[in-house]
Amino acid sequence: MSISTMLDGTWPRASFELFPPRGKSSAIWARLEALYALSPDFLSVTYGASGTGHAGREASLEVLRYTKEHTSIPVLAHLTCTGVTRLQLVEVIEEMLEIGVRDFLALRGDPPKGKAYWKVVPGGIASSIDLIDVIRAVADAHGVEVDIAVAAYPTSEMEARNRDIAALQSKEHHGATFAITQLFFDAKEYAEHVMAMQEAGVTIPLVPGVLPLTDPSRLLRMSQLSGRPVPASLLKLLEINDPAERVRRGLRATDQLICDILDAGAPGIHLYTFNRTRPARDIVERLRAQNFRTADTGSIDVSFIEQALYNPSPGG
Ligand code: FAD
Repeated sequence: MSISTMLDGTWPRASFELFPPRGKSSAIWARLEALYALSPDFLSVTYGASGTGHAGREASLEVLRYTKEHTSIPVLAHLTCTGVTRLQLVEVIEEMLEIGVRDFLALRGDPPKGKAYWKVVPGGIASSIDLIDVIRAVADAHGVEVDIAVAAYPTSEMEARNRDIAALQSKEHHGATFAITQLFFDAKEYAEHVMAMQEAGVTIPLVPGVLPLTDPSRLLRMSQLSGRPVPASLLKLLEINDPAERVRRGLRATDQLICDILDAGAPGIHLYTFNRTRPARDIVERLRAQNFRTADTGSIDVSFIEQALYNPSPGG
């Protein structure tokens, strides 16, 4: 089953983003095993994130290989155009197909480390749309069917929203079957983006990327990378010395965001885990305990947010 066919809205899906380790870390496999044990509907594996580009290739392939060998969980391989020629991309795509990858997330990629702007390298390609075409051509040449997802950027800023909707239109036109969003902090931005997509005739599902709102320093780092400011009210909420209480508050805020997003009709949530088990487990268990939706009305039951018995630990 391809990942896009899971996103038909009959049941909200929970999926995780995995982050290949920098350098050799023996703890990484144990962390991944713990995330596999939560049985996400699919896993995605980043590629050269934070500007490492093609240099991140081996680490991503290793995590993809390990996941394919040790689980039957569908895998979505991120791939980027940063610092890489078309020929090198063809090689990576062939390696991914060889491993058994059939679902790709086509991205332009972050600018190389230390560079403010993204630039195409000689012999390289310039955008996720070109990458969709390259992936499709390689898969066709090998007689393999693939599914290709893309990135989306919900925002309340009209000009940026229109730009992203135009980009999504082109991406769908080139064969993208769903999109995953950059992090955001307000469910209204997601709901408005979906509405604007529908008005523009874009029909692919939009899977919201959700960062657990438990770690203020991670939130600030991600906000710097994505250019999305963290709401002052959220930072204030997390401004507390007791780490367990901070996590508890952060998880409650995450629950509320997820409920609002699912209420807006999202086909699931994609958690930016940073390979940390604990927030992912807390969030997924709490969602599953509530069966995501109430059976009778189809609306989201948020009563569990009030449950006083909840007792997370801040560990990862
Ligand atoms: P593209 O789709 O190529 O677009 C580039 C720019 O052109 C964008 O500003 C877009 O809005 C604009 N554009 C494109 N088409 C049109 C059009 N028709 N009309 C008008 N404007 C257009 N980076 C990594 O390096 N590794 C990763 O693993 C990684 N994973 C990510 C996962 C997700 C879910 C997301 C949301 C982002 C991820 N990124 C990753 C970051 C991403 O690579 C950067 O945000 C990058 O700057 C843009 O990538 P893109 O695929 O959206 O670019």
